[in-house]
Amino acid sequence: MANIFTKIIAREIPAAILYEDDQALAFRDIHPAAPFHALVVPKREVVNLGVMAEADAALVGHLLWVCRKVAADAGHTDFRVVSNSGAAAGQSVFHLHFHVMAGREFHWPPG
Ligand code: 5GP
Repeated sequence: MANIFTKIIAREIPAAILYEDDQALAFRDIHPAAPFHALVVPKREVVNLGVMAEADAALVGHLLWVCRKVAADAGHTDFRVVSNSGAAAGQSVFHLHFHVMAGREFHWPPG
C-alpha cells in the first residue's frame, strides 16, 4: 500500500535525500525536531518494529548502521535514534522509520 515514504522512495514526491543504497533511503524530516533530523527507511515495506519478522532483523540492523552513517556524515558523534511503533507510541507514517536527531541537548524521558 502506498504511503508517503514509498512515494519518496519512488521519487514521486521530493525529499532532501542524504543517503541511498539498495535497501535503505535516508532523507531530512520535513518538520525537523532538532537542528539535524533525518529519517532512515527501508525500501521494502515493513510497517513498524512491532510487526517486523525475524527475517527482517538483518535489514533493521542495516538501517541502524545507516542511522550512524548519516549522523557521522553530518559531523555528529552524539545523536538520538527513535522509532515510534504504533499510533499510541506516536507513529503517524506506517512505514518503518528511524528518526535520527542531533545538534541539541536531549532529555529523558521523552514526552
Ligand atoms: P512518526 O510520527 O511516524 O514517528 O514520524 C513521521 C515523520 O515523518 C514526522 O516526523 C514527519 O515530520 C515526517 N514526514 C511526514 N511527511 C513527510 C514528507 O512528506 N516528507 C518528509 N521529508 N518527512 C515527512
